[in-house]
Amino acid sequence: MFRKRLFLYFFVVYAAFAAIVTLLQYNREVSFKVDKLNSNLDSYASLVHNYIQRNSILDSSQFNRLDSLYRIIDNNNLRVTVVAHNGDVFYDSDVYEISLMQNHLKRPEVQAALRGAHGTDTRLSASTGTPYYYYAKQYKDYFVRTALDYDVSIREFLRAERFFFVIIGILFLLMTLLLLFISGKFGNTLSKLKDFALKAASDEKIDPNIEFPRNELGVISRQIVHIYDNLKKTRDTISQEREKLIRHLYISREGVAIFSPSKTKIFANSLFIQNIIHISDKPSVNPEQVFGIDEFNEVKSFIDKNLAENLAFLQAQLPSKSFTISKRGRYFAVNVIIFSDRTFEISLNDITTQETEKNLKQQLTSNIAHELRTPVTSILGYLETILSSKELDDEKRTHFIERANVQANRLSELISDISVLNRIEENAVSVDKDTISIPEIVSEVMDNMKAKLDEKGIKAEVKISEGIAVKGNYSLLYSIFQNLFENSIIHAGENIEVSLQNYFEDDTYYYFSYADNGIGIPYEHIGRIFDRFYRVDQGRGRQTGGTGLGLAIIKNAVLFHGGDISVKNRDGGGVEFFFSIRKEVVSGRVS
Ligand code: ADP
Repeated sequence: MFRKRLFLYFFVVYAAFAAIVTLLQYNREVSFKVDKLNSNLDSYASLVHNYIQRNSILDSSQFNRLDSLYRIIDNNNLRVTVVAHNGDVFYDSDVYEISLMQNHLKRPEVQAALRGAHGTDTRLSASTGTPYYYYAKQYKDYFVRTALDYDVSIREFLRAERFFFVIIGILFLLMTLLLLFISGKFGNTLSKLKDFALKAASDEKIDPNIEFPRNELGVISRQIVHIYDNLKKTRDTISQEREKLIRHLYISREGVAIFSPSKTKIFANSLFIQNIIHISDKPSVNPEQVFGIDEFNEVKSFIDKNLAENLAFLQAQLPSKSFTISKRGRYFAVNVIIFSDRTFEISLNDITTQETEKNLKQQLTSNIAHELRTPVTSILGYLETILSSKELDDEKRTHFIERANVQANRLSELISDISVLNRIEENAVSVDKDTISIPEIVSEVMDNMKAKLDEKGIKAEVKISEGIAVKGNYSLLYSIFQNLFENSIIHAGENIEVSLQNYFEDDTYYYFSYADNGIGIPYEHIGRIFDRFYRVDQGRGRQTGGTGLGLAIIKNAVLFHGGDISVKNRDGGGVEFFFSIRKEVVSGRVS
């Protein structure tokens, strides 16, 4: 289509140009030939006139003398007429009876000669019946009219040379072929470019090897295709990256939402919606409701302020701020970033666990300080009393020193318990692990405890299978059994019975139970009994010598060995602990 149109445009312009040139040239040629013919006829007319003058033919009225001149001229085609000013014919070379001839005044060539010096006309002769080209010239007393037979030769003479038209025709043909070729080439490139543009616009697959001709248009086309390719590659990469980012955001452990400057949602992941539902108390899935929640007022005013201040976007640093929101015992970290296109991102994270852990750590530190302060204060009190009271008798002094000693021991116990816990906690993976025989470790504990058990009249029954061994840490396993027995000695009461047994084993674990029939643990405390420094009776605990860390050490040592521990009060009184220890410790864990 385009090729055709292009060819047509060129063709019309060229044809018009060629036509104008031909016409002009033709006219020039014709007028040149007419002038030449006229000058020929004019010289015949002058010849006739001179002859008339010289031979005084007018005076003698012997116009037939002109015949001799006519014969000399020797041109069969020539006709000579002499016409009087009144139109009467004096002489005509082709007519014998001139008296029969009409008045010639009204002949167009004669009329024209009357108006100017000469006149011409082409027509059929009324006198001879043949066609003539007439040339009339006015002289003082008459007109001399010379005429040529308007036959084939005259016509040939007047017609512009054929050769000129042949040349024009050949040139025209050549030009048409050239036009066809050029418009074909030009049109081909353009139609390829057009196809490419249409495909690019509708995102269709584009042939990467489109051939363009080796000319300027081809270079431009190749450049356009190249630029488009680069653009497409960049666009593809961007959309892939965007896809990755969105996928990442969808599965992110962070609640994320992106909003337009008019606060409509662009993107929000499910965690964001979940967190919003928790904070707003409304079961709506619309992330935009975040702006209607009171807890978000501060966030909202930060966003509004920054969106209003366009200046902020000129800075290299994007405006961002972090907030913490708490709702019904849960804590959320809110981060806002405002991007340079005025869209903004809100991330919403449930940080309750971190917050609780932080609080627990703080509580633990203050508990440790508190626990350490008690024996230290006592020791200082006793020592100050001894130093300040010079008259103190030996018995009392010994008593105070003994009390100070008890507190110093307690302090040392506390410090060693805390350091055991710290060791498990901080270095769970790098704690030494050996193959430990459980019966051996239990009998060692029993030997150690024997005096204390006897002192309290406690009967211990131990049933541990021979040869059971685990891969673990000696001192941690030791502290499990030691603390269990110690707790019964300290807390369960006197004259009781304790029992320890391994009641079951599977491929992975050994299962143990430890029980006493002492006072047991009140129901309301049983849930927190493994917490650090937790005692059923705070006052009594300190007096009886417990640190409040025994069960915490047991639990962490069990967890370190890949097992679990639980406690329950027995029906007949007393407590029972069930715990498991992994045969092979894979990696230590703590609570
Ligand atoms: P402590 O160093 O005070 O023994 P624990 O963590 O070992 O600390 O024990 C926490 C509390 O659990 C104790 O204060 C005690 O009241 C209670 N308890 C532990 N074992 C027994 C038991 N066998 N019988 C009764 N109460 C116990």
